[in-house]
Amino acid sequence: MNAPASRACIIGHPIAHSLSPVLHRGWLQDLGLTGDYQAWDVAPDRLGAAIERLKAEVYRGANITIPHKQTVRALLDHEDESARAIGAVNTLVVSDGRVTGSNTDAFGYIAHLTTEFPRWRGGLHERPVLVLGAGGAARGAIYGLARAGAARFLLTNRTQERATRLAADFAPLARIEVADWSERSRAAAEAGLIINATSLGMKGAGTLEIDLSRAKDAIVSDLVYNPLETRLLQAAKARGLATLDGLGMLIHQGRPGFRAWFGAEPPVDACVRGRLLAALAAR
Ligand code: NAP
Repeated sequence: MNAPASRACIIGHPIAHSLSPVLHRGWLQDLGLTGDYQAWDVAPDRLGAAIERLKAEVYRGANITIPHKQTVRALLDHEDESARAIGAVNTLVVSDGRVTGSNTDAFGYIAHLTTEFPRWRGGLHERPVLVLGAGGAARGAIYGLARAGAARFLLTNRTQERATRLAADFAPLARIEVADWSERSRAAAEAGLIINATSLGMKGAGTLEIDLSRAKDAIVSDLVYNPLETRLLQAAKARGLATLDGLGMLIHQGRPGFRAWFGAEPPVDACVRGRLLAALAAR
């Protein structure tokens, strides 16, 4: 008798917007695997039942998205260091009826950055990293960069208290200087890597106002991927600065989960990007 096909899913509320089914189903198809990846719309009061269902129906695991990334932590048997440090979980692996949570955003960010800019491997960087934003995405990027060897961060957020809390949480790991939100253009002049980890620039959200005229030889990175080329990235390109879009992080963050659930290394290539861009364009 054939072994049952491996199954995984994404759990969120709402879920229709998620690109993860396109990403994982595409990978299954690319690799000729017979697994299944579903989308579960789960309201907050049903999250516990959803985790029980994963175990009862022998799912290999799941991705977790808004609004469950923090609340799911209380329902896990174990969480790894990335989940504890970032304070949020986006990937579950079920093994022998036990559920382990991790956060693959940091891995995704670093994998994309070092693929596009190999000189970042091994932490070769003298200038600080400027991070705009202090939410979950900022925490993931900072955790990944600090572990990859980034020595110094400038952090600015509209709500300064949130930035101060983030800096305190990461104090053992990284030197993070908090700057006022009004200082972001000045900070950009100093930084070797500038990361937009706010939701500004996203389709339907406001615009990120920042002056890049004094930024020198910096990489400008936007975690927003819809649109792919944000106004920030357009402005950076117009000034001859190197850029990194948000889609690569999204693709790479899916790799550890796929590997654990389906037992194969998924491809990251133009074809995968093209599929996701087509799905974004159709929304
Ligand atoms: P979050 O936890 O809700 O944080 C949102 C951040 O945006 C906060 O720093 C918030 O500042 C800031 N912000 C929102 N509206 C603002 C405004 N009008 N002016 C100034 N700042 C504003 O969200 P998140 O999960 O960190 O996600 C942030 C962005 O990253 C989203 O666009 C998301 O799509 C993207 N993201 C991309 C990936 C990827 O794989 N590429 C992964 C995760 C997230 P306050 O603290 O002041 O509210």
